[in-house]
Amino acid sequence: PAGGELNGGAAATTPHVLFIPSAGIGHLTPVFRVIAGFSSQGIDVSVVTVLPTVSAAETDYFNGLFADYPCVRRVDMHLLPLDASELATEDPFFLRWEALRRSVHQLGPIVTAASPPVTAIVTDITLTSCVVPIAKELRVPCHVLFPTAATMLALNAHYPIYLHQQQLNNKGGAAAAVVVGDIDIPGVFRVPRSSLPPALLDVNKLFTKQFIDNGRVIVQADGILVNTFDFVEPAPLSALRGGKIVPGYPPVYTIGPLKPHAGAVKSAGIITGDRTIDEWLGQQAARSVVYVAFGNRSAARLDQIREIAAGLEASGYPFLWVLKTTKVDREDDAELADVLGEGFLERVKGRGMVTKGWVEQEALLKHPSVGMFLSHGGWNSALEASSSGVPVLVWPQLGDHRVNAMAAVSAGIGAWAEGWGWDGDERMVTGEEVAAKVREVMDDEKLRASVAVAREEAAKAVAEGGTSYRNMHEFVAKLKGAP
Ligand code: UDP
Ligand code: UDP
Repeated sequence: PAGGELNGGAAATTPHVLFIPSAGIGHLTPVFRVIAGFSSQGIDVSVVTVLPTVSAAETDYFNGLFADYPCVRRVDMHLLPLDASELATEDPFFLRWEALRRSVHQLGPIVTAASPPVTAIVTDITLTSCVVPIAKELRVPCHVLFPTAATMLALNAHYPIYLHQQQLNNKGGAAAAVVVGDIDIPGVFRVPRSSLPPALLDVNKLFTKQFIDNGRVIVQADGILVNTFDFVEPAPLSALRGGKIVPGYPPVYTIGPLKPHAGAVKSAGIITGDRTIDEWLGQQAARSVVYVAFGNRSAARLDQIREIAAGLEASGYPFLWVLKTTKVDREDDAELADVLGEGFLERVKGRGMVTKGWVEQEALLKHPSVGMFLSHGGWNSALEASSSGVPVLVWPQLGDHRVNAMAAVSAGIGAWAEGWGWDGDERMVTGEEVAAKVREVMDDEKLRASVAVAREEAAKAVAEGGTSYRNMHEFVAKLKGAP
């Protein structure tokens, strides 16, 4: 990913890295991008593949990886059935993470049976507390790939300590329930309670239990790879690396922005993966198009979708909207015309494009017609926009999105639509509000200039000698047995 041949000379040994990814496109994207980068580095790669996937997009994604990189070995793993009744969550991805965590003992035999022998494991943050002990027992170095912002990694590192302090301060004694308030991450910033991933307000939530365990055990990992670059998140990176949050924290390798893997860019000259969208984009003025997408697992309510539609129509700009109406794409069988309301598609014909299909977002953001990105604040999306020089208007939807929004604002890569509805709250954002905010961001020359700087810095980070380039180099050298 960080470009160029990292190996330099003949490798003494060929490392064999076993990747143990989690579920959700946002989690698979960085893993696949790292694997793609490894393919030219003289590293053997195996990938644990858990089937069936949660979403259809993930199946396509896995198939694409194995088709494009025939040397990558696929190791199938079968999940044990999960009794979800006592887990108090319906989120299909949280449930999958839990099922994976409970099936993880199957990894021991997979690792010991592998030939050539596995020399290192790279796993996803969501599986950390289950995979690290297995790797330790087998004496295989274990690294964690953190798929979102370093700011979020800092929160993950600090959260168990914060809870411990709250327990000590607890007036009702240790047994009293811990009340989660604003969290001041040492050396980073204060995250108001209202911006925390909502699950973290309740220490008994499934996500929170995993988050706590992973935050504790990650300290024993041999290294952490993060898809970010030093320029955009200096404070959390220096706090983590300087031991300000957790003394003796493992090395943090920033290796972003990761480049897309070959499969994602090859589609026979079609930039966005869809010829009609390409042609339409080609007809729009430079930097005029508002691109709208909320990632792979955020679905707005129908009435909110209609207000977004009204807002885009009223903004006066051409727009391209990738619309999802369900958390899991397989369940999304709604007709666009019904979702958007009568007459909408006819009224905006020529000026607005709406699709439910997959687009090559990274490539699309690099198109000269794209002027801004209305996004949920998924970190992959934020980074892709920054390395394309496209300002982001972050409308956080759930989970880590508000923390990411804070990180994006402090990095100068985006604006945050603060106070807009999120995670199931009832606040409806009106079409007028959407239109006004879109116009504000389109007119914000200061933001455009700071995003242009971030874009330069992103390019420098991955170019030879840049921070992400050097970190990747160091990581690969470590995999090859450098002291
Ligand atoms: N993505 C894409 N095309 C789509 C939908 C998503 O290329 O139609 C990619 C997007 O470029 C990004 C990832 O999927 O790399 C989404 O990750 P992010 O962290 O932004 O959000 P999440 O989906 O995890 O909420
Ligand atoms: N995360 C973490 N530790 C964990 C699990 C998750 O730090 O044990 C982070 C990670 O950044 C993840 C985010 O929390 O992306 C919140 O995830 P969310 O629920 O929004 O799901 P996602 O958007 O990743 O699918």
